[in-house]
Amino acid sequence: MILVTGGAGYIGSHTVRALQEQGFDVVVLDNLVYGHHDIITTLNVPFVEGDVGDRNLLKSILRGEHPATAGSPVQAVLHFAAFAYVGESVANPLRYYSNNVVQSLHLLEAMVAEGRRRAKPIPLVFSSTCATYGIPESDQIPIEESCPQFPINPYGRSKLMVEQFIADFASAHDLPAVVFRYFNAAGAHPDGDLGEHHDPETHLIPLVLDTMAGHRPYLQIYGDDYPTPDGTCIRDYIHVCDLAIAHVLGLQRILSVGQGYEVYNLGNGLGYSVQEVISCAKAVTQCGLLAHVAPRRSGDPAVLVASAAKAMRELGWVPQFTDLHTMIAHAWTWHMQRFVTR
Ligand code: UDP
Repeated sequence: MILVTGGAGYIGSHTVRALQEQGFDVVVLDNLVYGHHDIITTLNVPFVEGDVGDRNLLKSILRGEHPATAGSPVQAVLHFAAFAYVGESVANPLRYYSNNVVQSLHLLEAMVAEGRRRAKPIPLVFSSTCATYGIPESDQIPIEESCPQFPINPYGRSKLMVEQFIADFASAHDLPAVVFRYFNAAGAHPDGDLGEHHDPETHLIPLVLDTMAGHRPYLQIYGDDYPTPDGTCIRDYIHVCDLAIAHVLGLQRILSVGQGYEVYNLGNGLGYSVQEVISCAKAVTQCGLLAHVAPRRSGDPAVLVASAAKAMRELGWVPQFTDLHTMIAHAWTWHMQRFVTR
């Protein structure tokens, strides 16, 4: 049994689907603060509604004593559950440190205790972010895992703190761990039944598509005076299904190796500007949109592009949907389906 925390969220849900396709039994733990119950129904996966920091609940799930586990102890944990709104983290850091850091610490504590009881540590795959790098120097692009980490907001700091204590637990308690630092997750499942659904929505591609579909009056482009060819920020968009496959590969590796601590960047190594995203979305949807240039959003680096060479080399990860057009087309199919059922 594999425990997926945050499995009712965007990246978590696609990973649950990928795990199911590979024949893993999965149980999802999600408090549904930002996750959605309809995703659980779509995934048809055993589900526990609760907090990652709930020690008694964790103990019963890890031991296979919770009814949702059908008696199977948890072999490994994929930990996605977190709050991920940068602006909110600046306004309310306590919410981020208590939810992302303290709750993760409780999860690790429960995993180490259960690992001791079994005399076999429980492997962990942790969902981190390129936000832990902060604003890299231009000579550090594409960003490798060794790039210095100086996050510039509480969200990025909360993820870095968890990375750091996982590394400490890995060396002190032989906790096997894989940490993935994602760049910009995008797209939706090609089947059209899973996709991105944030409330409120702050991400570029869903906002562009929502505007093109007529649900928003205009799009704000946050700054056109960056030192990039068209003046707008450049990001490395990675298809959510490619992220999901990387998690399966990371899990398989850690289950077979059974030890160590490794960090992998996940991106395509290709950057697209905000203007390029808008142009591509116009080509996909055949819809226009009104866009206003607005002031820069604080804390936005000009360029973030990953080097994912390590994940490709060590995990044999080969992203399938590297083309922005495909990512936006999948996202558009999902958006259209949601509008029909809204
Ligand atoms: N962005 C924008 N308008 C929006 C939302 C985002 O111009 O309404 C820009 C943002 O400044 C960044 C890029 O689009 O340069 C991607 O932003 P997103 O929030 O999707 O991801 P982030 O890179 O912040 O994780």
